[in-house]
Amino acid sequence: MEVVKLNLRSEKSTPLLREVARHVARAKRCIIITGAGISCSGGIPDFSSSDGLYSMIRTQYPGTFRSGKDLFDAGLLRTHESIKAFYLFMGVLKELIVNATPTATHFFIKKLADMKKLKRVYTQNIDNLEELVGLEVDWQLERVKHCQAQVVQLHGTMSKLRCSACTNNYSFVTQYCDVFKQGEAPNCPGCEKREDARIEQGRRPHTIGQLKPTVILYGDSHPKGLEICQIAAQDQDKADCLVIMGTSLRIPGVKALIKDFARAVHDREGYVILVNATDVVTKEWNGLIDYQIEGTCDEWVKLVDIELSNIERTTATRLLKSKSVETNNKEQEKKEKKKRRVEEPLDKKGKKTKVNIVKRIETKISNKELMETRERKKRRLSNESVEKRERNPRILKDKIIKKKERRPRNVKPIQADIKEKKTRVAKNKLFEKKTKRGPLT
Ligand SMILES: [Zn+2]
Repeated sequence: MEVVKLNLRSEKSTPLLREVARHVARAKRCIIITGAGISCSGGIPDFSSSDGLYSMIRTQYPGTFRSGKDLFDAGLLRTHESIKAFYLFMGVLKELIVNATPTATHFFIKKLADMKKLKRVYTQNIDNLEELVGLEVDWQLERVKHCQAQVVQLHGTMSKLRCSACTNNYSFVTQYCDVFKQGEAPNCPGCEKREDARIEQGRRPHTIGQLKPTVILYGDSHPKGLEICQIAAQDQDKADCLVIMGTSLRIPGVKALIKDFARAVHDREGYVILVNATDVVTKEWNGLIDYQIEGTCDEWVKLVDIELSNIERTTATRLLKSKSVETNNKEQEKKEKKKRRVEEPLDKKGKKTKVNIVKRIETKISNKELMETRERKKRRLSNESVEKRERNPRILKDKIIKKKERRPRNVKPIQADIKEKKTRVAKNKLFEKKTKRGPLT
């Protein structure tokens, strides 16, 4: 399928442009791939094709580079002069970046992120303007599985400097710009400190590293290349829309990434849209890119922004409606509750109606009766238990044993006493008869 070419300034394209914008606004997990074209209006020229920057370098270091694009070619940084020219370029570029401001496109991307419609941005830009609008940029990409970075910097960043010896990272502050503009690279402060300590100890000196911008040049491999591939593979499983903005589709690595994303998005019946100031698509992109929109990115994002606002408005109205329905239902419920209370003479508070009083008395009487029955039952139960206990042979035996234990040992049983007494009386009588004397006791 051929790429449909639309022009932002052509009136014929307007209905289709609106439809494309509506589709982007409705997407839920949008992947955005950006190039130099989105930062131009912010004050950073497309240095790969910028004549101004290149002519300045050519004047100071003639014969070092043939074009602006060559400045980023690692293979050309071999001579002392070309390295000096490269450092000068880095110093000038950093000053441009410091004075640059985020564009309407950067703010649009942030809006998509805030509306939870952005999956991730893959940028070829090294200006770090995404961070200025509040997007999460993580150069280290330490977490791949749950990567927090909203922006993946495919070509590195000008916000950091890395030491060539100890590989420590430092912020690229403007104080370093003057050193770079002289065609030199600043020394690593960490290495210098370590060297001072070694000299004090009288040890052999080591080399001091130089700070270089963390920019990936053509021919260099990205130190986080593997992590980027893994993150992109994860994103491909979810993306439902791909928007390519401000890039001329020339870098092989980026082209491969776009093709992979385009196939994944088509599998989910999503659209692939390219926005660029000039016509850049060739037959190579047939079946991969659905629409090419010719015009500036800032102009195009305005169209999508209108659709986003429409969605926001519709959602807000729907929310309001559902809320009003909810409150109406609650009020209705309250009214019904009140009505029930009035109809029912017996509620929790108990209003003093005749019916209530009668009911209360009835309840009191029934309570009293209940108490009495309970009392009677209790008493009967206790009597029964006493009888049961008395009837129980084991309890009886225990009782006898206890009684025996209670009696003192020297005391004779009563029956024996009586018998003894009787015998004594009989003996006395017999003795009286024999002796005719009075009783002995
Ligand atoms: Zn160092």
